[in-house]
Amino acid sequence: MYDSIVIGSGFAGAVAARELAEQKGQRVLVVDSRSHIGGNCYDRPDEYGILIHQYGPHIFHTNSERVYRYLSRFTEWYEYRHEVVGNIYGRELPIPFNLNTLEMVYGERAPHLERLLVENFGEGARVPILELMNHEDAELQEIAQYVYENIFLKYTMKQWGKSPKEIDPAVSGRVPVLLSRDNRYFQDKYQGLPLHGFTPLFEKMLDFEGIDVRLDCEAKTVLTIAPEAEHPVLFEGAPFTGNVIFTGALDELFDCRFGRLPYRSLRFDFEHFDRQFYQSHGVVNYTVSEDFTRITEFKYLSGQLDLPGTTIVREYPMPYQGGGGEIPYYAINNEENDGLFARYKELVGRIPNFYLLGRLAEYKYYNIDAIVERALDLAGNL
Ligand code: UDP
Repeated sequence: MYDSIVIGSGFAGAVAARELAEQKGQRVLVVDSRSHIGGNCYDRPDEYGILIHQYGPHIFHTNSERVYRYLSRFTEWYEYRHEVVGNIYGRELPIPFNLNTLEMVYGERAPHLERLLVENFGEGARVPILELMNHEDAELQEIAQYVYENIFLKYTMKQWGKSPKEIDPAVSGRVPVLLSRDNRYFQDKYQGLPLHGFTPLFEKMLDFEGIDVRLDCEAKTVLTIAPEAEHPVLFEGAPFTGNVIFTGALDELFDCRFGRLPYRSLRFDFEHFDRQFYQSHGVVNYTVSEDFTRITEFKYLSGQLDLPGTTIVREYPMPYQGGGGEIPYYAINNEENDGLFARYKELVGRIPNFYLLGRLAEYKYYNIDAIVERALDLAGNL
């Protein structure tokens, strides 16, 4: 009855399903264990009418014309300009650390330090903190030490339970030292939030002839995966030879037979206030204090600036232990964990027409635009 089965309805699954149905004329079943579509980008109005991101703030940004155009088929955009400040001992400083931050921190010394930075790295450069720390110039080292201690160290300890030197350098490299006066968190050409939210975007994407969506449905209740068997994929008990696009956690598909893949999880603490605004920016990072990493105030993100009242969320990082109700958000990429992932991947490598896609399934730190692009490519190649 189906040509393809897609496990998960976040960006990976939804884009793949739409492409297979629209471009290849396939009949596609999308299965999601949650009671809603959209994966961790799911958003909804809360009881006060404020559009909240239930699984933490997701902000779209890309330099890819292709991705921007593709998503624009399903939504108009609210041109939100995402700026983040760090709350550093009560003072708010722009993050990423940029030339404005430099001026606020170093005052009269800033012009000299700015020249030094620009001479070494070039105007507009994006310098990973770990790279700046390795520089031999004493003054550059002093700046690096300030940024490391005040922006990265404690935030990263909270987020990952490890210091920036102990985690994949690509993670701290996401937030560089920026040699410009651009206070935006992202410098990509296109950025914004779906005008009416992510969930309507997903509804429109999945509302297409040939796509069926089953919610509240655990993958394992419809699919049986046994790489060694004559029929490695059974759908509702019968051999299935169509495509399976799996976007969930791969270890759990195999009952964690080689051990659990480590992920970081988060607890979200929402609170509503009867006041116009709670904080100065959409996101404030707590880089030297508190147990939470950041506070998001949603009305900035949704553009509902005139609504009375405001809703915020605090993010408390925690390990993922696989208990009921816990959600894996971030792969913890290092040699050991990536090696374990490779063993699971090898299992599915033997199954014809079985594909892994997305943050969980590929054990990778994808942004929205990167996974949309991957999903377009994968579906296009099937
Ligand atoms: N980071 C930090 N301090 C900050 C912002 C980021 O130490 O104020 C580090 C931290 O390790 C974090 C990583 O940079 O996990 C990537 O940050 P990003 O904002 O991209 O994280 P995401 O929004 O994906 O959770």
